[in-house]
Amino acid sequence: MLKYVNHDIVFQEFPDEVTLAINLSGCPNRCPGCHSPKLRNDIGEALTEERLNSLLEAYVGSITCVALMGGDGDPEGIVRLLRTVRKIYPELRTGWYSGRERMPSEEELSAFDYVKLGAWVEALGPLSSPTTNQRLYRIDNGQACDITPQMQRR
Ligand code: SF4
Repeated sequence: MLKYVNHDIVFQEFPDEVTLAINLSGCPNRCPGCHSPKLRNDIGEALTEERLNSLLEAYVGSITCVALMGGDGDPEGIVRLLRTVRKIYPELRTGWYSGRERMPSEEELSAFDYVKLGAWVEALGPLSSPTTNQRLYRIDNGQACDITPQMQRR
């Protein structure tokens, strides 16, 4: 089950988007130098479809995108929740920040407008760093286009 610890409105995580970013707990990854060790714990409130909808009701009209940050322990749950967002709020873009290296399947990709892949490697830096190992993809018609360079020009 996906759980979340908090949420915030962010401006830098996806280009030209005002994003409701929901930080998920229970991360199964073990990146050395993890920037948020508490997110590896099983803490927070269940992120059900109902809970996500009530969060969105509070922000719809002032955001352009909703993103789930983490959730690598339940990628199917991520796809399911973002498909619900697509159905109820087709005007919103959807994003996922994953610490995995593996791209979702072609069928799963239809749930996303953006997917960030890659573990946190402190020495290489975040997406804004030219040396980063992480990649941000824009999904267009089922095709993943690497837009990481856009994150480094800002
Ligand atoms: S993906 Fe890596 S850096 Fe992010 S919370 Fe999980 S272990 Fe920490």
